[in-house]
Amino acid sequence: MKLNPPILNNPRIFQSLGGIDAKTLESCDQLLLILPEKPATSLFRQLPEGPKLHRVLRTTAADSTPALRTRLSNKKLTLVVGGILKKESSTFEQLTLGRKLVTALADEKAGSVGICAPGFDDDAQSSIVNNILAAVLAAAFVLPTYKSKQPPPTIKSVRIVGVPARVDTKRTEAEAMGNNLARWLTSMPPNKLDAYRYADLARNLANVRGWTFKRFATKELTKLGAGAFLAVAQGNEDDSASIVRLRYRPGKKSVRADLSLVGKGIIFDTGGTNLKPFSSMLDMHGDMQGSAVAIGILAAISELKLPLAVDCWLALTENRTGPSAYKSRDVVTAANGKTIQTIHTDAEGRMALADTLVLASRDKPGLLFDFATLTGTCVSAITNRFSGVFTNREALHPRLKRTGKRCGERVWPFPIGDEFLEELKCHSADLRQCSPSAAGDHILAASFLAEFIENDTPWVHMDLSASDRDDGLAHIPSKFTGFGVRYTMSVILDDNLFKATD
Ligand SMILES: [Zn+2]
Repeated sequence: MKLNPPILNNPRIFQSLGGIDAKTLESCDQLLLILPEKPATSLFRQLPEGPKLHRVLRTTAADSTPALRTRLSNKKLTLVVGGILKKESSTFEQLTLGRKLVTALADEKAGSVGICAPGFDDDAQSSIVNNILAAVLAAAFVLPTYKSKQPPPTIKSVRIVGVPARVDTKRTEAEAMGNNLARWLTSMPPNKLDAYRYADLARNLANVRGWTFKRFATKELTKLGAGAFLAVAQGNEDDSASIVRLRYRPGKKSVRADLSLVGKGIIFDTGGTNLKPFSSMLDMHGDMQGSAVAIGILAAISELKLPLAVDCWLALTENRTGPSAYKSRDVVTAANGKTIQTIHTDAEGRMALADTLVLASRDKPGLLFDFATLTGTCVSAITNRFSGVFTNREALHPRLKRTGKRCGERVWPFPIGDEFLEELKCHSADLRQCSPSAAGDHILAASFLAEFIENDTPWVHMDLSASDRDDGLAHIPSKFTGFGVRYTMSVILDDNLFKATD
């Protein structure tokens, strides 16, 4: 059965320019009020029922979020939920405040949510409004549900209130759409989004959005010698696995990609023959989040009609148990001719990615960026608040970190290199898949992947340790965060990283 793609339309966004009057606020069912630290009394004089708001703020505990919660005495009894931002607040802090304030609206009836940030200078106000909006758009999106009774929508429209001039929200809207798509795909039950239907859905999105679509099925991958990917795929007795390539070409169709995105798409990771225990396997339908993030980025890029040629590669397969599943000490040959001795079948992500990276880097893109929920050690090293980044251009480390700080999806760089390949040395093949001792597995995994980058293509690997967090992260309220969409858009739009990698 075919799968219907998600409805990705954001709620409508209205803007009321100029002063903040009672009538505008009455059009909002709820109002998110963002105030500077220790707001002046004069600021409250600009707000309808300002003295009351000031009083409530002063009587709330200093460090609580929301910093104020009260209703206006208008016809709608508009709920005002307020938060405080320090003058030098980081993007991450702004996004986090947005999530916490929107979460505080959870029990309210669906309606129009106002965003108002008085008392900041114009530039700061515009970025604060966009960051709070990002949180509202994430919360407004309905993740897949199979309840017989659909949950009611929470947010119908958004109104930006009290800004001197129109705030440009296009980028925030496109990033929200891309992130929502990524979270929707990741939240799908693994029997509904199997490897066939995932490829089919990608074809569907390609048709709607004007991308080209190609599916490399196992037969074609066998011809290409993609033995590492196929080692994982051979456990899928329905032959559902494939590598999918999507192409976005706003200009000349034949042009090489400026940016190539690669995503790990393990539909469900049982661990394979080296089976995972229950608690580690429970959420393994999320092991395709890297591929979902890659599609989300492509969707945001094409939504903004960016003048960039982009390829997007999805490595789609399950990692199953069974009589035909691969096992420890198998030896396989990858598409670049390198032989790999398998060690642990739960290290399937790097196997599936190895061949996908060979295919992607053979096309000589300007920058190759891969995303994968790859290792537990990355979470142990930096928690699930940050994601790890690794690159074959070490000079990029400061820029990669800076981009994370700027956009609020924070990353931390780790080393890779030949030195670490000593742990992957083996007698019967060019390298082994991983080390039986799991120390520094995120670094070994990335060093392994580097062996499959052709043409010395500039490459960044993101180990998505921040992809799964019960309370959400930054602006994202859900367990699966779609981390990486916002980051990569910042790489493109703020840093131009793909144009300066030599
Ligand atoms: Zn695994």
